[in-house]
Amino acid sequence: MKKLALHWQILIGMVSGILFGLIMTNFEWGAGFVSDWIAPFGTIFIKLLKLIAIPLILASLIKGIADLKDISKLSRMGGKTIFVYILTTLIAIIIGLSLVNIVDPGKNISQETVDNMVAKYENDSGLQKKLSTAGETIKKGPLQPIVDVVPDNLFDALSKNGAMLQVIFFSIFFAIGILLIEPEKAKPINNLVDSFNEVILKMVDLIMLYSPYAVFALLAKVIVSTNDPDVLYALLQYGFTVLAGLALMIVVYMLVISLIAKRNPLTFLKQISPAQLLAFSTSSSAATLPVTMERVTEHVGVNEEVSSFVLPVGATINMDGTSLYQAVAAVFICTVLKHDITFADQLTIVVTALLSSIGSAAVPGAGMVMLVIVLGSIGLPPEKYAMGLALIYAIDRPLDMCRTVINVTGDATVATLIAKSEGKLDNPKVKNWDDHYDDNIKSETN
Ligand code: ASP
Repeated sequence: MKKLALHWQILIGMVSGILFGLIMTNFEWGAGFVSDWIAPFGTIFIKLLKLIAIPLILASLIKGIADLKDISKLSRMGGKTIFVYILTTLIAIIIGLSLVNIVDPGKNISQETVDNMVAKYENDSGLQKKLSTAGETIKKGPLQPIVDVVPDNLFDALSKNGAMLQVIFFSIFFAIGILLIEPEKAKPINNLVDSFNEVILKMVDLIMLYSPYAVFALLAKVIVSTNDPDVLYALLQYGFTVLAGLALMIVVYMLVISLIAKRNPLTFLKQISPAQLLAFSTSSSAATLPVTMERVTEHVGVNEEVSSFVLPVGATINMDGTSLYQAVAAVFICTVLKHDITFADQLTIVVTALLSSIGSAAVPGAGMVMLVIVLGSIGLPPEKYAMGLALIYAIDRPLDMCRTVINVTGDATVATLIAKSEGKLDNPKVKNWDDHYDDNIKSETN
């Protein structure tokens, strides 16, 4: 019997998880049961993905750059990548701003709803934590993000999942070193990194076998922790504005894939769909990165010289969905709190949403933390930050799930585009977890 494609298995897992979560909300003990007995299986999955993300970046980036054989190719590709990432983010922000100005989702919200939401969430511990993280970020100097990219201790960088850019920095630096030594001397390290990389990619295949069950657990947990449906209803128009913008971004990506990369956009979507579904279920582009790399390299056919560089960089700095959401949320909050914004403020949003999406960590809810910086840049007084975030807090998780899908799709699209422009878009070369299972058993018995 033909095995069900992975994206269908994951979808079935997601739908069953949602249904199970909905059933559990009918029982008083349901939420506790899901948290204690179901959610941990989702947590294990996310931990496994994070576990291999850093070794994967290290191995594949060193291999990818060492394979380039030429440093000038790296600087050309790097420049192009950053340029396209900034361009797609700007498009996303402009789409977000246009929609929020047209729809104006803040105009119909009654004062009573505002008061209710503020009273309910302003002092929520999760929200307060976001505000204090935002406060720490604001206190740092303007060049601090660049300083933070350079690690002072490799092992320290490797031990922190949040230090992905530091690992990227070290890997590029190390690979440049490899390119500059005698090829004969570079051979052993290249071979080592090459097989290390193969092993890690195989581990991704193995982890993916577990993904349908993990998404069941992750979504059941999201459903039982969802806030009051009445509040969600009040935020429907705002939520739809963000979703419409995100949907338009998919159209932009599809156009790029078909017109520039000359690939069938629907096939492309199918090839990367497991990564998108996991982005939705985990709300984290960092946790999804190993799967994005596997899908884009093996299933889309982007050469590893390109994907190993473009995707990890993208996971940390390219967040089209997040920037679009920040633009919509900033204008929505200002309208509801009756803080006037001018055309110049809207231009400020373009710049600050670009910078704060670059600075957002690729983890759940990070976009909301950095939204505070956008709000500050357009003059919302700090004492109103908590009120502003309280307005959109109830609906943030579902929107986070959707914007993470766009973040990941944007990275995959740009990787395909850069590969095309470098002549590195090959045919897919799908590998399965058990391709060599029998070979190894045979060589054992011989
Ligand atoms: N969760 C998003 C990501 O990981 C970031 C955000 O918008 O909060 O890509």
